[in-house]
Amino acid sequence: MSRFYEVKKRDGAARIGRLLLKGEGREMQTPLLLDIESLSSGGGEDKMEVIGVESPLFTELSKEETWNAPRGTVILPEIHPLSAKLKAASPLFVDFFVLAFASSMLHTPEDFVRRVIDARRRIPPDVALWVPAIATVENAALLAYMGVDIIDDANAVMKGYEGIYQLEECELRVDDMTDLPCNCPVCSSLSIEEMRARSAKERAELLAKHNRLILEREVKKIREYIRAGILREYVEMRVRSSSFLTAVLRFLDTESEYFERRTPVARKHVMKVNTMESLRRIEVKRFASRVLDRYRPPSTQILVILPCSAKKPYSMSQSHRRFITAIGDYRGNIHELILTSPLGTVPRELELVYPAAFYDIPVTGYWDAEERAWVASCLRAYLDRNRDNYDVVVAHLRGAYKEICATVAEELGMEVIYTCEENEKEYTKEALERLRSRIAAFCGAKRRLSRLEMGARIFKAMADYQFGLGTGDELVKRGERVTLTGKYPHFRLVSTEGVLARIAPEYGLITLTTKGARRIEKFTPYIVEIGDFVPKGSILAPGVVNAGEEIRENDEVIFRGDKAFGVGRAKMSGWEMVESERGVAVNVREVRALKTVDCD
Ligand SMILES: [Zn+2]
Repeated sequence: MSRFYEVKKRDGAARIGRLLLKGEGREMQTPLLLDIESLSSGGGEDKMEVIGVESPLFTELSKEETWNAPRGTVILPEIHPLSAKLKAASPLFVDFFVLAFASSMLHTPEDFVRRVIDARRRIPPDVALWVPAIATVENAALLAYMGVDIIDDANAVMKGYEGIYQLEECELRVDDMTDLPCNCPVCSSLSIEEMRARSAKERAELLAKHNRLILEREVKKIREYIRAGILREYVEMRVRSSSFLTAVLRFLDTESEYFERRTPVARKHVMKVNTMESLRRIEVKRFASRVLDRYRPPSTQILVILPCSAKKPYSMSQSHRRFITAIGDYRGNIHELILTSPLGTVPRELELVYPAAFYDIPVTGYWDAEERAWVASCLRAYLDRNRDNYDVVVAHLRGAYKEICATVAEELGMEVIYTCEENEKEYTKEALERLRSRIAAFCGAKRRLSRLEMGARIFKAMADYQFGLGTGDELVKRGERVTLTGKYPHFRLVSTEGVLARIAPEYGLITLTTKGARRIEKFTPYIVEIGDFVPKGSILAPGVVNAGEEIRENDEVIFRGDKAFGVGRAKMSGWEMVESERGVAVNVREVRALKTVDCD
């Protein structure tokens, strides 16, 4: 439990937090770059106390007493009993932990990943993690991405004394350079010749100052990218400069459980899928697994597989408008599935969901082997699970899409009807006519898909996707008269009771009203149990009694207690709400005060 540290914003395992300096009323933001010099001289601007495991004061850390300035202690990886102690029931009352021997972890990327992640897993979520003496402008973003909150300038200063000039992409020996390619106050105040002419000590100090300044700028950038929710994209760019860092990211991507528990369920911006590592993002894996586990197609006889479009949501694109027009009068008989990289299969009803409506991938027509294998595995799993739902599978695909589909169909022993000739664009008149006539031949009778029916399918599928399978049937009850208001995609689902839910296309989620929430509360784990109060604005972590383990940041949640019932948006994961003593757990959207009956 911490007293002076609080996490304010998260992006995966990375966090923006504030560390309060008591007495001075000043706060520092994490990810934080500490000035080692000011720490060692004592009473510097970064007034913090590190209590070593051998210190007589150490035992005080397990007592809940008031302390006056940020304090922390050391985690010794594996070799010290403290590792086990951290897991024990009695928590330490500190604001941060220092991961000792960090520089010795830099030998193998696998070891490095394991040590940092193990440390983060073992310490409470509302306590900061300081990995000392290894930060560089090259690795700072990756450290933040792993969940490191505090770094320092020890490495930057040390490298300065070794005559090393640090840059975002590499380190150069200043003796080999002909210019100072930087605009920091040091580099813009003198030429490289002037720097070389200085005494060894002065030169080292100038280099150390430059190294520190660019690290400082990097940390500021990282904070902005966490705030904007684009740290992952930045990390993918950053690690390119070093094979060690690229390897670290690849090992991190195998830590699915660690990142899944920390990655928001929705964001407001486009997910850029520009590198091989982008395919392994947790958002991609999560979407693919939810399409299998939390989605059931409407019962129709015919499955039509379509290619994706650059414009999202797909149905707003020109090509999909043409497909929809071509299918026209038969659309009520069919189910549309979009094949895409890297998400695999996107059922039409889920095209508004994050990240289906929020990704951007370079389109060249070339698919590498890994991309093909991944998308094929998604299609294979989807068809295998849902094959009994369909009598006929029509694929309006060509090129790599068609090859993937053909491979999967052969493996599953399924017959697929292809409606595109090779070298024929999917949206040509001939291809569209072929698509229409094949569907017509199988359907017999025409059946349009009304706006209401489409809307109900969307709400049902999105509810299942967000709140768990079966909740869609509770929200949109079979045979019930509901109406749909608003223009696609800003639909509202209205029953005789009033509005039940809305689509929030800016997040790729549906939001519930308390009326909608009442319908599904018994069937979903997305519940936050709160204490005996009526929340206003937001619910803080200490007010949470229990919370669904599956809740992630930005999830729509239902909260309830003896005095209140309502809906809101989670600002941290469910497990974090339970384990944290500080921070906003839920932003409240709608709350109903409950009348309590006095038993006395
Ligand atoms: Zn500089």
